[in-house]
Amino acid sequence: MPVLDTFGRPLRTLRVSVTDRCNLRCHYCMPEADYTWLPRENLLSFEEIAGLADLFGDLGVDRVRLTGGEPLLRRDLPRLVSLLAHKPWLRDLALTTNGVLLADAAGDLLSAGLHRLTVSLDTLRPDRFSRLARIDALPQVLAGIAAAPRAGFPSVKIDTVVSRGDNDDELVDLLEFARSEQAELRFIEYMDVGGATGWRPDVVVSRAEILARLTDHYGPITPIADPGSSAPAERFSLPGGQVFGIIASTTQPFCAACDRARLTADGVLLLCLYAQHGTDLRRPLRAGASDDTLRRLVEAVWQGRADRGAEERRQTRDRGVYIPVRTLRKDAHLEMHTRGG
Ligand code: SAM
Repeated sequence: MPVLDTFGRPLRTLRVSVTDRCNLRCHYCMPEADYTWLPRENLLSFEEIAGLADLFGDLGVDRVRLTGGEPLLRRDLPRLVSLLAHKPWLRDLALTTNGVLLADAAGDLLSAGLHRLTVSLDTLRPDRFSRLARIDALPQVLAGIAAAPRAGFPSVKIDTVVSRGDNDDELVDLLEFARSEQAELRFIEYMDVGGATGWRPDVVVSRAEILARLTDHYGPITPIADPGSSAPAERFSLPGGQVFGIIASTTQPFCAACDRARLTADGVLLLCLYAQHGTDLRRPLRAGASDDTLRRLVEAVWQGRADRGAEERRQTRDRGVYIPVRTLRKDAHLEMHTRGG
């Protein structure tokens, strides 16, 4: 039986951020000129991550997603994949990447046992990519997306954060591109999470607006019923049969179904993307705490969980930037690129 929180939500999914470093500087995630980084000596080793993952497995987790920062910047990542891939409790092992380094890594990741890949892609226009990510790397990302099925990955997902005036005129182009790559695209509403210091309500392109625009172009869109799903994306089908998703974290949050715990690269357990505090697992782990003690700590933290961060943010009046830069500078754990999205 999975462990339940105060709202009866089971612990099922673990997102592991393997590094807080990134090779892009996306405008909605890392818009600042410089950052406070996690001290290197605090980063969990692959063995420490795999050992902690087992404790989450004991408590009901059967899905793990590796993220970051940019996870492919972590040296020898396939070794972590292979440590996790054969865990008896694991049903699904996925990776979220910006794709820049994927073309060279896809084969090794598949051989190591990775099940699924999600690649972030916000634009198909090279000049726009350079402006929005502040690095000229669109060709590498496209090569990464093309390399995934060639390496043998059965399904690739593409995640697109939509922001008004930046890429909201590319919804159809991105869907057509996803179709040509046989990938499933998910549009993500721009969230006011820590790190999004340029967030404003009017820049969010809502689920309703995305659907209206796509209906104008394609005709009637059919929701795909998926009762009981805890996946953040709602899925839809276009008249021609192409399936896509929308992650409406800002206008229609899904806190009630959230079964995700997050582990930062330095071993802090977070229960919500909007959490201001976490629980440090690294210190007790490195001080020699037994598996049983650590498991009971994680269990107690989950059982006390009462957050519904995105729903609370939706009720905030005069919603603006969630965490000011000066506060982010003091604690890297508040940043989206540290907690992994
Ligand atoms: N570097 C990897 C990547 O780009 O996919 C993994 C980490 S990144 C933080 C994970 C996801 O969070 C990406 O899809 C990114 O677009 C999304 N993200 C970051 N900031 C966001 C924001 N303010 N609103 C919505 N999504 C955001």
